[in-house]
Parts: sequence; structure tokens; C-alpha cells
Amino acid sequence: MSNKKNITWHEGSVTNSDRENLLNQKGCVLWFTGLSGSGKSTIARVFESELIKRGHAAYVLDGDNVRHGLNSDLDFTPESRKENIRRLGEVAALFADAGLITITAFISPYLRDRASARDKIGNERFFEVFIDTPLSVCEERDPKKLYKKARAGEIDNFTGIDAPYEKPENAEIYVRTDELSVADCVEFLLKKLTEFEIIK
Ligand code: ADP
Repeated sequence: MSNKKNITWHEGSVTNSDRENLLNQKGCVLWFTGLSGSGKSTIARVFESELIKRGHAAYVLDGDNVRHGLNSDLDFTPESRKENIRRLGEVAALFADAGLITITAFISPYLRDRASARDKIGNERFFEVFIDTPLSVCEERDPKKLYKKARAGEIDNFTGIDAPYEKPENAEIYVRTDELSVADCVEFLLKKLTEFEIIK
């Protein structure tokens, strides 16, 4: 239920550039998307750690972790996935406004939901990162044994098996994990951040 009638948006005197100058970086969202097992969490964690080592404030919003708390009421139907991504987009937008290099690691299978996150966060701060790993490779890796369960009919609505994954059409960053090691993927991402003038 929307109850916005008596609520006003408050702006403080600290601007986004004040925060960015303090942190010496541009607040942004690197929105990882890809199949389960594609490598989103693995790359996100190493990437975060490399950024921190270089003195940057970075934070990974992990899809599974958020489902333990903020989104514990949601399941995997298309409506719930949409609401999941909507809330995460709102949280990521706040983190970017705070000046953080925000890395999100959600399957986020629907084009329209990712486009809504982009709209919310703003095109100049939103970088879609397609962690492109063929389904066969993800299924072979199966780090959480979820594909095995999905194939056995123990999980419904599993992306890539009985729920769709809509590939990004114009991702700002494209990563092939079946061709690059984790370290190489992270190095590539760091290069892109410099290219996009998020870090110096
Ligand atoms: P997701 O978060 O997308 O579900 P995970 O990061 O949990 O995926 O799992 C990816 C699995 O693939 C891990 O076991 C990881 O060690 C393995 N892997 C192998 N090569 C790569 C690579 N180049 N990049 C990322 N992960 C890789």
C-alpha cells in the first residue's frame, strides 16, 4: 500500500560530490547478472577484496545473503523475483549515493527488472556486468548442487532449467569465465573501472 501523501523527500547539505571527494572514487553500481554458478559471487568477492586493498570503499550485495533478511518473505516466482530485484535496486541506489562502489551479485534474469534498476540508479552510475558462462559449464560446476536438484524436480522455477534467463543486450562489461581465470576476470574489471573513471 502506498502512503506517500504525508511524506517529503529530505536533502541534506552534503552533496554526492562531497562524498565522492572524500572517498576519491565515483559511487556506482556494478550490476552482475548471470546464471547460477556462472561465477558472480566468486568474482564479486575477489574484486571487492582487490578494491579494498587499493584503498577503495566497495561492498558486495549478495543475492543469497539478502534473501536471509530483507527479502526472506520472497520466493522464486516471476512476481517475487521482480520484487526481489526492485528492493535490491533501491538498496544499491542508496549505497551508490553514499559513494560506495557497490557490486551486486544476483541472477536477475529478466531484462525488464534490470532496466528498472538502471532507471532507479541512473544510467551514469549503473554498469551492467554480464557474467557469461554457458549453462553446460554452470551445470558441470554446480557449486551448490542446485542444478542436480532442479533436474531431479526438487526445485521449481530454476533459472536456465524451468525458468528463463534473458541475456543482457548491451551490457557495459562482458566477462567470459570459461575463457578467463578468476584473477583475470578481476583484473579486467579493475581496468574497466579506470576506463569508466570510477577509480583513478
Ligand atoms: P554464482 O554466484 O554466479 O551462483 P558462484 O560464484 O557461487 O556462482 O560459483 C561459481 C563457481 O565456478 C565457483 O565454484 C568457482 O570457483 C567456479 N569458477 C571456475 N572458474 C571461474 C571463473 N573464471 N570465474 C568465476 N568462477 C569460476
